[in-house]
Amino acid sequence: MTKKKKLGKRSVCLSCGYQLRWYDNIPIISWLVLGGKCRKCGKKIGVTEILSEVLFGLAFLAISLKMELGVEMGLTLILVGVLGYLAIYDGKWGELPVVQLIVAVIIGALIFGVKVRSWEDFGGALIGVGILAGIYYLLYFFSREKLVGGGDWILGLAIALAVADWWAALWVLFLANAMGTFYALPAAIKKKQKKIHFGPFLVAAYIVVILIGF
Ligand SMILES: [Zn+2]
Repeated sequence: MTKKKKLGKRSVCLSCGYQLRWYDNIPIISWLVLGGKCRKCGKKIGVTEILSEVLFGLAFLAISLKMELGVEMGLTLILVGVLGYLAIYDGKWGELPVVQLIVAVIIGALIFGVKVRSWEDFGGALIGVGILAGIYYLLYFFSREKLVGGGDWILGLAIALAVADWWAALWVLFLANAMGTFYALPAAIKKKQKKIHFGPFLVAAYIVVILIGF
């Protein structure tokens, strides 16, 4: 996908450039109403998009069933919503919008505040931030954005703050890298190596860690 989208602009059809109206952009429902096609040119809209929307719907449902009703659950669901948006955006456009990244970090910090109850918690949570945000930052810094994009470490920071635990952070790191490598392997074998966008994998790994509860 070569077309870039300016921040703040509404989604457009990648085929004809038709600017989607709000009613064309309702998750799942619009896709079903339009039969998975662009309203204007009839070009099929990717199955990936509807699949990711359905998956996020299911993740939302599973998290609300798994977590206890309360502030942490409310904040976590908001964070998963923002992260879902970021993951889909990253998968589609290969970049992460800054405003939503900052919102994710702020919500992550609020969850951190709710979860951390002692100095011991605080220490473990800080190590988690070092593991997740730190490693992605170093990869970004030393690979000069060739391996990891600039937004990935900020996304890692938001998630590390939200899990607020070094063991959970380690699992997010492991799962995201395992999924990213698995996904990138076929292209790497064919020597069509390209930058991996870790965003969607980081978000998926975070959801798995919430649901399994490491
Ligand atoms: Zn179109």
